[in-house]
Amino acid sequence: MNYEKIFSKVQTTINNYIDNGTVATYIPELGNVDATKFGVFLTTVKGEHVSLENYNEKFSIQSISKVLSLALAYGLEGEKLWKRVGVEPSGTPFNSLFQLENDLGIPRNPLINAGAIVVCDVLISHLNNPKKDFLEFVHRISGNSSITYSERIANSEKLKGFRNNALVNFMKTFENIDNDIDEIMDFYFNLCSIEMTCEELSKTFLFLANKGVCPFSKEKILSKSKCKRINSIMQLCGFYDEAGEFSFRVGLPGKSGVGGGIVAIYPNKYSIAVWSPKLNKRGNSSKGIEFLEHFTTETKASIF
Ligand code: GLN
Repeated sequence: MNYEKIFSKVQTTINNYIDNGTVATYIPELGNVDATKFGVFLTTVKGEHVSLENYNEKFSIQSISKVLSLALAYGLEGEKLWKRVGVEPSGTPFNSLFQLENDLGIPRNPLINAGAIVVCDVLISHLNNPKKDFLEFVHRISGNSSITYSERIANSEKLKGFRNNALVNFMKTFENIDNDIDEIMDFYFNLCSIEMTCEELSKTFLFLANKGVCPFSKEKILSKSKCKRINSIMQLCGFYDEAGEFSFRVGLPGKSGVGGGIVAIYPNKYSIAVWSPKLNKRGNSSKGIEFLEHFTTETKASIF
């Protein structure tokens, strides 16, 4: 597959794309990002890579980090995890509260905010120093020890974190929260604040395209079965109430974040990261999805 050629063809097409999206402002710091940024990076399991435009600039990965915290928690907690959080698509916005009451405080899946908050709680029960240990996990899977949290973004979100605080308090009333709420939310906001470039993001997620084995260190991060299951959760839940649309248009498991990043996995082939800060109404990068749709169309290959 000549990915380089396909990238430049899609780039030409995408140049004419009219992006009606808007940058997220409910986290004030995210509103300061240059909306015209656009980057792509693809890494194959064989070690080839292809890039476009601003692929080497850091951005806030936001909810994309929920897949990484899930991977760590699933490895530590095993199947017991699914007593605390489900694996069903929610069909609701990422920060929605309303299903939680019917579902007795068990979030539909680990990639919506409520589910990711429960995963943070599970991690705090397992880890001595959650923020430090989680970052070490990210360093291990990415082969890159420079990746870190953004205090500026974490604090910015914390000041406006009313909805996420409502979610954690609500779940506490259903006894689905064990640890100190302030500690859980500090951990959650920090996870969301991690910054990566498209290159770093694509490399960090490559283990999910490689049967759970880190392609750089050859270390087994997750079993084959757990890796398969995380990809299946991304496929069905990675884009919230737009998961069906993403699956329909792109045909790969993936995860978005309100910083405008998207990462998508083609098992046994590649991991691709796209960044374009303008979001559609569902909070997913509009140009990012557009790029990936054209990309999988041109490669004539998706998981289906
Ligand atoms: N930190 C964001 C929030 O909790 C993450 C949301 C997202 O990226 N979809 O609202």
